[in-house]
Amino acid sequence: MTASGTAVATLTQADVYARQVTNSVIAEGYTLSGASVSDVDTNIVKINTYTGLIAPTNTTVGQYLDGSALSFQQYYGYQGGAIQYGASLTTGKITQTNPGVFFYFSGASGSIKVADGMATEKLSVTIDQTVSLKSGSPVTASFGAVQNNIQLYQVVDANRNGKYDLGESVNTVSSKSYSITAASGDITLNFTGVAGSFYVASIKYDTSAVVGATVGKNPATWPTVNYQFDTLFKATKIETYTGGVDLAPKQPAPMLLEGDQGTGARAVSDAQIKHVLAAAICWWEDYGISGEQLAQLKASTVEITDLGHDHQGWWLGASCGSLITIDDDAAHHGWSLGLGDVARNKVDLFSVLVHEMGHVLGKTDADMGSSIATGERTMPTLPVTPGEGGDDHAAPGVPDADHMLALVGSQVAAQQMHLHMS
Ligand SMILES: [Zn+2]
Repeated sequence: MTASGTAVATLTQADVYARQVTNSVIAEGYTLSGASVSDVDTNIVKINTYTGLIAPTNTTVGQYLDGSALSFQQYYGYQGGAIQYGASLTTGKITQTNPGVFFYFSGASGSIKVADGMATEKLSVTIDQTVSLKSGSPVTASFGAVQNNIQLYQVVDANRNGKYDLGESVNTVSSKSYSITAASGDITLNFTGVAGSFYVASIKYDTSAVVGATVGKNPATWPTVNYQFDTLFKATKIETYTGGVDLAPKQPAPMLLEGDQGTGARAVSDAQIKHVLAAAICWWEDYGISGEQLAQLKASTVEITDLGHDHQGWWLGASCGSLITIDDDAAHHGWSLGLGDVARNKVDLFSVLVHEMGHVLGKTDADMGSSIATGERTMPTLPVTPGEGGDDHAAPGVPDADHMLALVGSQVAAQQMHLHMS
């Protein structure tokens, strides 16, 4: 059935997807006037978005063509719909991106096809990547295309209506049948098209291509960068994905000093903190983390640098993904490195490391607090995890003296962590 004259002025791509997700209405066409909106049975696939699509990596060409693919922004809505990056406060360089890959699909409009009256034609399609700065310090790094994950598909448009219809076949074009040229993030596919078909290209992009780019040591000026992908066919832009995708910083949440900075203290060395690292890992082992989480902790990196202060206060530690950074001298108070009593005028490194490791494991400041005073030992107050490997006398809470002594012996764990001095 067709609901004619329905008063829908313009349907955005988000509207189309939202309606499809709720199965309330299936709409044909990307820019729609009221008369062209169809209200049909939901098991009939009939969406053509007439647009390129930035999508999560598990998206298939079939989902792109029938309109059931989720956009990147929908899929990653929980992290603001952006690709997130973390950077080192020590080097000022991007250390990781999440997710590491995404897909760009183009060709649903049916525009990539042989000219009328010809049986075959040499065709060339370019995916043009544009990098533009939205805020913060400049970054111009492009995402790299994964060469062996560039794919061309042939849609046999049986009724020649320039759209994909349910039942029409979609063939993977052998990579031997086309050539790829890549230049500064742009990809061109050259191939011979046959009449009666149109073509779809998918490019897998590797976001980790920006790892190592300099964003500076001050998180307040870490940039947000927009990546736009346009499809050019016969030198004309035929498709784009409005808004592109943003690369945005994941801001480190600091553990702060309660009170004023100290009057001066020596910076710690990596050798001086190894036993505290080992004990902090053991604290989490006792808490009952899984073997996988334990491996994650041991694979994380600890950096020692001068974290200084910002409007929030003096930074003692921070973490970003699997990178933990601690201040070199505990805001000029000096670190208390003992596992027994905490030195009265110093800051307890054990507390700060347990806290930052908690972030690596996905705990938040809401679970663990976010500040500490000199002479204090504070452990996260987390619900008891009755997991395997859990040890009933230990976590949560401050371990007792005997237990701390036992932890001192286990230095093996610390040796497996990477320590970087600045
Ligand atoms: Zn924190």
